Amino acid sequence: GDASLDIDTLVIGAGPGGYVAAIRAAQLGQKVMIVDKGKWGGVCLNVGCIPSKALINSAHHYEHMKHADQFGLSVENVSVDFTKVQDYKNSVVNKMTSGVEMLLKANKVQMFQGEAMFINENEARLFNEQEAPRYRFKNCIIATGSRPIELKPFPFGGRILSSTEALSLNEVPKSMIVIGGGYIGIELGQMYSKFGTEITILEGADTIMPGFDKDMSSLVVKHLKQNKVEIVNGALAKSAEQTDKDVTVTYEVNGETKSVTADYLLVTVGRRPNTDGELGLDLINVKMTDRGLIEVDDQCRTSIPHIYAIGDIVPGAALAHKASYEAKVAAEAISGLPSKVDYKCIPAVAFSDPECAAVGYTEKEAKEKGYNAKSSKFPFGGNGRAVTLGGADGFMKLVHDADTGLVLGAQIAGVEASNMIAELGLAIEMGATIEDIALTIHAHPTLGEITMDTAELAMGHPIHTL
Ligand code: FAD
Repeated sequence: GDASLDIDTLVIGAGPGGYVAAIRAAQLGQKVMIVDKGKWGGVCLNVGCIPSKALINSAHHYEHMKHADQFGLSVENVSVDFTKVQDYKNSVVNKMTSGVEMLLKANKVQMFQGEAMFINENEARLFNEQEAPRYRFKNCIIATGSRPIELKPFPFGGRILSSTEALSLNEVPKSMIVIGGGYIGIELGQMYSKFGTEITILEGADTIMPGFDKDMSSLVVKHLKQNKVEIVNGALAKSAEQTDKDVTVTYEVNGETKSVTADYLLVTVGRRPNTDGELGLDLINVKMTDRGLIEVDDQCRTSIPHIYAIGDIVPGAALAHKASYEAKVAAEAISGLPSKVDYKCIPAVAFSDPECAAVGYTEKEAKEKGYNAKSSKFPFGGNGRAVTLGGADGFMKLVHDADTGLVLGAQIAGVEASNMIAELGLAIEMGATIEDIALTIHAHPTLGEITMDTAELAMGHPIHTL
């Protein structure tokens, strides 16, 4: 056969796992090749985090303009040109993906657009329509990510959408059914509801956004209802029938069979790891969990010591920042550094309205871990900045250990919760106490003061609440 080309590290997949791993490995002096069969930036930049947040931003501004009277403004004839909204979204995506491409090049990472397939433990074939070079690697980092789960009764196509198609519609639908009330379904459903789509959410559990504290999801439910979103909990979606104009979903709730018809059906019931198919993992026998994830140690090493795996294909939260974190650990481990993963502080954020963000333990979790846990809840209404932003509806919960004062966790639902959670992650990482936070001067008037006020509340002497 053909001769192999030699590289130090082969990175398969260029999402927030792969591209970060490639850059970090190159910084540490390795000769790196990165391969992606799709676009640079992976799901996150192309059909995930970034495009969804761009559309959510447009929807947010549209809604604010429609209710501009609350700020003393009268804005007439506000309308949506969804083609232009898509242009804006695409320009954001292009800016970010070309940024990734530029960074990879500047770090002298070799790039191959095409698919990777293992030949054996030390070699892989990279191929596209033009060529199919064969590479021998010293180390490999697998970062092939995940794809939407497709349910048998709801095959994607036509009027049945996955999150990917839902991000690229060229008009605002009149109506949409969403199966699955996890954060992706809620982010996209709420975004469309703000643009005027009638949304029906079918969720099997008794609450939406099950990963978050119930107080947080209740606040989101309240806002969804303000936009006339219909939420059916305990709904078991059974089948769908589509015409060229619409789609009808039949579901069961409380033993009754019901149906609902809409322009589109969006199915967001989770994501499946890309560990099957052409990649050829079966040829190299890496150990897998029964859910099709790759088993790794605390340096992201698989059962084959020179092959690593990171991101959505390994156990844990399927989040971009978790993929990037593991990427750095894996690249450093390959370079002989003692880096190890520590998952104590992975923030989780839903870009719902209001935003929900959490890090560390909830009060219940902390108690289960044996802490003398206390939780303090401060309302956004007690913060000047939140009120000026029209964001009085929200709260921060701070969980601490009553014996030591150590900060153990935080849950925030409210305007800019996504940005506020960073300070709490740092506090936990650094072993801060509630007193450390209470004694830190926070600028006025900022949302950051909420963190200080919640810490003062936890210490028993709150100024801005009772
Ligand atoms: P991916 O980003 O999935 O990238 C994997 C790459 O590998 C792909 O580009 C693919 O083409 C390539 N690939 C696969 N197989 C091969 C092969 N054999 N050869 C070559 N290339 C291959 N996370 C957040 O943290 N915050 C958010 O706000 C957020 N919002 C989201 C919104 C939506 C709508 C979706 C769908 C996801 C969202 N996520 C969010 C999740 C986030 O996108 C993923 O956790 C993240 O992209 C995982 O990164 P990764 O590097 O593991 O894989």
